[in-house]
Amino acid sequence: MSEKRCKLCNKPYEHHYALFGRGCLENIYELLNFSKPSRIIWNKEMYLCTRIAWKNHKFFLNKKKKYALAQKYIGLNYLNKMNLDFLDDVKEKILKDIKNISIFSKNIKENISFALNDVYKLYNYSQRFDEIIEEFQNIKFEELDEKMAKNFIESLSFIFDKSKISNPISYAVFYSMQYTFWQVVIVGGLLANMKLSAKLLNNSLSPFGKEPSDLIIDDNETITSIIESEAFNKKINELIEKYGQDGRFVLNDYKNRDLLIRFANSDLLYALHDATMFVNAVKNEDNTWNLEIEINDTYDFTDFKNLKEYVDSNETGKDILKDIFSTVLNNLGVVSSEYGVLKIFEVKIKFDYTTEKKNMYKN
Ligand SMILES: [Zn+2]
Repeated sequence: MSEKRCKLCNKPYEHHYALFGRGCLENIYELLNFSKPSRIIWNKEMYLCTRIAWKNHKFFLNKKKKYALAQKYIGLNYLNKMNLDFLDDVKEKILKDIKNISIFSKNIKENISFALNDVYKLYNYSQRFDEIIEEFQNIKFEELDEKMAKNFIESLSFIFDKSKISNPISYAVFYSMQYTFWQVVIVGGLLANMKLSAKLLNNSLSPFGKEPSDLIIDDNETITSIIESEAFNKKINELIEKYGQDGRFVLNDYKNRDLLIRFANSDLLYALHDATMFVNAVKNEDNTWNLEIEINDTYDFTDFKNLKEYVDSNETGKDILKDIFSTVLNNLGVVSSEYGVLKIFEVKIKFDYTTEKKNMYKN
């Protein structure tokens, strides 16, 4: 006789039951809020399956159907216990399958099939996930340092498992956990000093089946940090030098490599990896320039990157979390893009700018 394995935990057991080991059977009674069976009931497993059938208003089911129904119902109850956002669709399908089991049905038709052990594993993942998130939420913003942030992210790396995309139930569970993860990143202090990054990430994080809208950014804080950045000033000087002979120029071609701009400031770098800057420039009588600026970028996480390499090592402003953002979060973002948790959209940053006299290009 072949070894029996518990349908819930997959461990071998030697009891006379058909589906579960004794410990798991007890846990299932508890999960379903069923009172413990009295001692005189010899087959507590069959008794459980019968009670599940009654609870679903199904009577006189044969053994095979009872066992199938019990596993679907137990799986559904584990999914209900997971504190996750995007499981409704999966649950509905299981409910339909439960409805379809009757004394009249010839074959058991399934909208979604699953092994109970897989759902149980997902339940354990979600329990672990909840604990880590809760622990992190108890940290005060002021106390959050790089080590804590790293530990938090590393301890959750299991939710970025690409092999889970192919199964609809694990996909929904991992989608939900990643969705929560990014929400925590946005509001949990990890992006406290990176407002633009937080804003763009928030826009990219779209609920199940929804597409994000494109964004136009025109807040003073972002624009000031761009205007004050070395990358921007250098770029403007280069463009004026190259294109400014006639006192005016318009540059708005994505193919023009001169218009690529990459920032060293970590918020701008993380938010805009490789942006294109359009310029409409007119020279004033006092030799300053009026510039209409439009910075365009496609917000996406399609490439694994080592953004740290991009960051100018001379940069002064010390962001404690730079390491994390530069690479780890970006690469987790790549996985979440494949799941569709993070979606692509267009960003446009628009402002007018007048060069200062001291920065003026000679001539
Ligand atoms: Zn078991």
